[in-house]
Amino acid sequence: MENLNELAKRGALEGGGNRRLAMSDEDGAGRDYVVSRMKALGLKVVIDRVGNVVATRPGRMDGPPVMTGSHVDTVGTGGIYDGALGVLAGLEVVETLNDHDVATDHPIAVAFFSNEEGVRFTPDMMGSQVFAGTVGVPEALDAIGFDGTRYGDELERIGYAGDAECGVREVRSFLELHIEQGPVLDSSGIDIGVVEGVQGLSWTEWSLEGVANHAGTTPMEARHDAGYGAAEITSFARRMAREMGGRQVATVGVIDLHPNLINVVAETARVTVDLRNTDDLALADAETRMTEFVKEMATEEGLKYSRRTLARFAPVPFAPPMVDLIEAKARGRGSSTHRMPSGAGHDAQMLAAICPTAMIFVPSRDGISHNVNEFTEPRQIEAGANVLLDAMLELSGADSTVLDGP
Ligand SMILES: [Zn+2]
Repeated sequence: MENLNELAKRGALEGGGNRRLAMSDEDGAGRDYVVSRMKALGLKVVIDRVGNVVATRPGRMDGPPVMTGSHVDTVGTGGIYDGALGVLAGLEVVETLNDHDVATDHPIAVAFFSNEEGVRFTPDMMGSQVFAGTVGVPEALDAIGFDGTRYGDELERIGYAGDAECGVREVRSFLELHIEQGPVLDSSGIDIGVVEGVQGLSWTEWSLEGVANHAGTTPMEARHDAGYGAAEITSFARRMAREMGGRQVATVGVIDLHPNLINVVAETARVTVDLRNTDDLALADAETRMTEFVKEMATEEGLKYSRRTLARFAPVPFAPPMVDLIEAKARGRGSSTHRMPSGAGHDAQMLAAICPTAMIFVPSRDGISHNVNEFTEPRQIEAGANVLLDAMLELSGADSTVLDGP
């Protein structure tokens, strides 16, 4: 808790919460704090070319490490737990092993991945994607932020342009402790979410083009109203998700009208559609239904339309033995558990492509996250960190008796 509160001082917002946009001065300050903790624990710190930081504690054998970690960047008005918890809990595991002189067969590593949030630079989870080899280094370095800055330049400016190669590192297994960021655990009073995988995501931007015209004189049947089109897409998204059922969710988060005036029929609309599902076939079906709907609706209203894919991730199932391990360790500590998918994207879903991976969720009060009021109780954090500790002890082949105690 002390470390969480200390990190929260970097990029602190008045009245609580954090703003550490990727590669900003605040992100740099947060990184510096975490790296200083890593070094104080005697870890070997390696920074790669996109700024991912991996700190390693040697094992009795060489070879790939059992890794844990998350991210330290935040959204513009973020809480103090999202990402930070997973990184600092990993360091807490190391500190516990150090305090008790526990040796492990395999090395243990704690990592934080660059630009997880994707607020300033896209794509999100950029660092872990490069780490896992799904996004190239040049593509990441050349990403242009909403403020016109270049990722690679900003990375260098804050001192985190490392020289370790990306996408070459072997990892034995990966665990990420994270707040749920949703209401399931909090509302059911459950301690630990055993995450079975991450749902798939499809982000599309629709651009509609009609004709700007006088709101008073243009007959209803003569209108080509982009605002109407945007509203139709929004209500179809809701209708479709309800109809499909299962784990399908659909959100229109942005409607941008032009000229956006009270007495003018909107000429253009930019509409974003966020579709998610744990089932890839169902997700593809939702995409098709949406596309067909827009086509039909736009034709009827006399609108031109175009679509642009902003992001597309297939659902990621985690490794069943890793998921079972989390569940067993949580129950071993007397915690209540619930198996669930993750509704949000996480670095772990990228790591899942290169090694056996799982996630541990702890409750978010009222399901609130990406918000300065994000809160998880210290005892819930302790429960999650203990599951992480026990799982890492087993995965790394620790002398299991050392930490047995009351
Ligand atoms: Zn996060």
